[in-house]
Amino acid sequence: MSSNSSDLFNDDASHKVGVVSVLLPLGIPGPYDYAVPPTMKVDHGDFVTVPLGSRELLGVVWADGTGEVGHNRLKPIIERLDVPPMSRVLRQFVDWIASYTLSPPGAVLRLAIRAPGALEPAAMRTVYRLAGPAPDRRTPGREKVLELAQDGFARTTRELAEEAGVSTAVVRGLIDAGTFEAIELPADAPFGAPDLEFKKAVLSDAQAFAADQLTQRLEQGGFSAQLLDGVTGSGKTEVYFEAVAKALAQGRQALILLPEIALTGQFLERFEARFGCRPAEWHSDLSSRERKRVWRGIADGSARVVVGARSALFLPFADLGIIVVDEEHESAFKQEEGVTYNARDMSVVRASLGGFPVLLASATPSLETMVNVWNGKYDHLVLPERHGPAVMPAVGAIDMRATPPERGEWLSPPLMRAIAEAMAKGEQAMLFLNRRGYAPLTLCRTCGHRIECPQCDSWLVEHRFRKQLSCHHCGYSAPVPSACPSCNEEDALIACGPGVERIAEEVVQKFPQARLALLSSDNLRGPSSHADAIRQIADHEVDIIVGTQIVAKGHNFPLLTVVGVVDADLGLENGDLRAAERTFQLLHQVSGRAGRAERPGRVYLQTYLPEHPVMQALIEGARDPFLEREAVMRERTGYPPYGRLVALIISGENPKQVQAVSRELARSHGALEGISVFGPAPAPLALLRGRHRVRFLVKSTRAIAIQDYVAEWLSRVKVPGAVRVAIDVDPYSFL
Ligand SMILES: [Zn+2]
Ligand SMILES: [Zn+2]
Repeated sequence: MSSNSSDLFNDDASHKVGVVSVLLPLGIPGPYDYAVPPTMKVDHGDFVTVPLGSRELLGVVWADGTGEVGHNRLKPIIERLDVPPMSRVLRQFVDWIASYTLSPPGAVLRLAIRAPGALEPAAMRTVYRLAGPAPDRRTPGREKVLELAQDGFARTTRELAEEAGVSTAVVRGLIDAGTFEAIELPADAPFGAPDLEFKKAVLSDAQAFAADQLTQRLEQGGFSAQLLDGVTGSGKTEVYFEAVAKALAQGRQALILLPEIALTGQFLERFEARFGCRPAEWHSDLSSRERKRVWRGIADGSARVVVGARSALFLPFADLGIIVVDEEHESAFKQEEGVTYNARDMSVVRASLGGFPVLLASATPSLETMVNVWNGKYDHLVLPERHGPAVMPAVGAIDMRATPPERGEWLSPPLMRAIAEAMAKGEQAMLFLNRRGYAPLTLCRTCGHRIECPQCDSWLVEHRFRKQLSCHHCGYSAPVPSACPSCNEEDALIACGPGVERIAEEVVQKFPQARLALLSSDNLRGPSSHADAIRQIADHEVDIIVGTQIVAKGHNFPLLTVVGVVDADLGLENGDLRAAERTFQLLHQVSGRAGRAERPGRVYLQTYLPEHPVMQALIEGARDPFLEREAVMRERTGYPPYGRLVALIISGENPKQVQAVSRELARSHGALEGISVFGPAPAPLALLRGRHRVRFLVKSTRAIAIQDYVAEWLSRVKVPGAVRVAIDVDPYSFL
């Protein structure tokens, strides 16, 4: 994908042709040709409305017409919108993702224009300021308004009335008398301008060195990729804020991607403390009005910095100059529905197309990223130690075979002692279990029946506070029955295994004096309740925190000295290729919560596998040897990042149809050197939301264009409308 200037000139030159092809935000194979009315002039990237059947749709002029349909049979473009065109880089990005993920380009375009109404003219509001002479008739009310308006600020009628403490009739009288003049202003609040000098952090030598490297990359210009590699608490954010400041100083915009919106609240405060204003936010919790405002601000360049979830990659930046991907190893960057893209990888693509640096930050980099570092494709900036007085916590395993908890309980004696000691010293403890609810399985002790989701191949999870059983895959929920649904025996149902609610119950029993906080996505809805909980912990209104992975990242709690991992083996159970890597990443991150200030921290891993390489790596703090060992295994077996994977998920409500399509697919893939096709096999979640599911996995060497192979294969098989074939390139989930 070249980006030389002659190419640029040719592509965006004015076109005199009377036919253009327009990409519509629909799951159709490609753009359609439309006639350009003689009075209209359109260029590539222009937003237009066009007819499709009986509808009028918004689309983007994508290329010159293909000429496949005769000009006299083409429908004309209805209107060209008077808004900035979609940039060439963003259009290339849409095409790139479509071809990489084997998605219809229109489905990717939909991600880039997903702010309904953003292209309509911005709403205006009328404000008034002093202009003419004061009227002859002066009343006490009028005097108050006139006095207020002396400050020169323009205000709405209502603001003038409220601030002066008079009725709006008084204000209107002054307007009618010509004392005030009306001004039309955009109704949306403007974006703050980051002040680069507002409060610069004092950087350690290592931080300053990394920040220098980054700013040099920005000065040189062009694409580059860096891994900012530093343990939790080493001050990565301060470092990349300097890179953001540099991009802003160059007059460009910056995008910071975070894996979870729950983290946004605290992050916005940190940004404001550094730059004196809030950045723009982009995530699914925004109101539609705010979405429009942010979309427009990014397009016109007035929003300088955007902090957002993965979909922020598709925003129409006027002049993007850097992307930061924080916690780059997080699987939350992988979009699993619709267009299945990995926002971390696509950030690198977007930076490469746009010709600017991308910065990946993590304490536990993904193997994909580390391999790029080892190959010399990415710069490696290391922050070796914790910033300030804190030291890394000591990590130890509790062998659950040697010191098991009491029957029906989950906290072992050594962990209980550690919590008790922390309480005695007025410190805090955190217990981590990555499982929501009270118990993952409800079982009948009379007949052995296990309560399953009627729509999925999974057990229902008991949520005792809500008195419900619910499915974590489809959201189905039902009240907890009093009798077994199978044998009708009363009071025979027992809860098996722990979720965080059950651990919280045990903590209340064992430490009745301690103040407890339970943090999981079930009781923290939205960034603000999350921020409240974080503040309570920071202000020491809480002694013991029990939580899911929501507590794993990004928080500084000075008094938190003990972290207990209730079930360190949990993630190792699902046998996908990244199980060990992800378990290491998550537990390392949880461990990093302990001892972030002057008091040293201790981490206890409750495990039945203390000799497992993941546990050993955590105990010894030996991340790189662990990653190197993982790399050797992946290389030997040809798995990513040393090979390529594409998963196909065939699903439908009728199992016979699903099987028929699967058999047909199995018959029609050709043999090709370097490619293996596994399957069809029932998916581990063989039933999901009422749909039966079968999987194929295609594996190839890196040298092969696996997408071409899959596309050609699928083109040979006719799939009935009731069956869906989902393509997942670079899969992260194997369920
Ligand atoms: Zn039963
Ligand atoms: Zn379900």
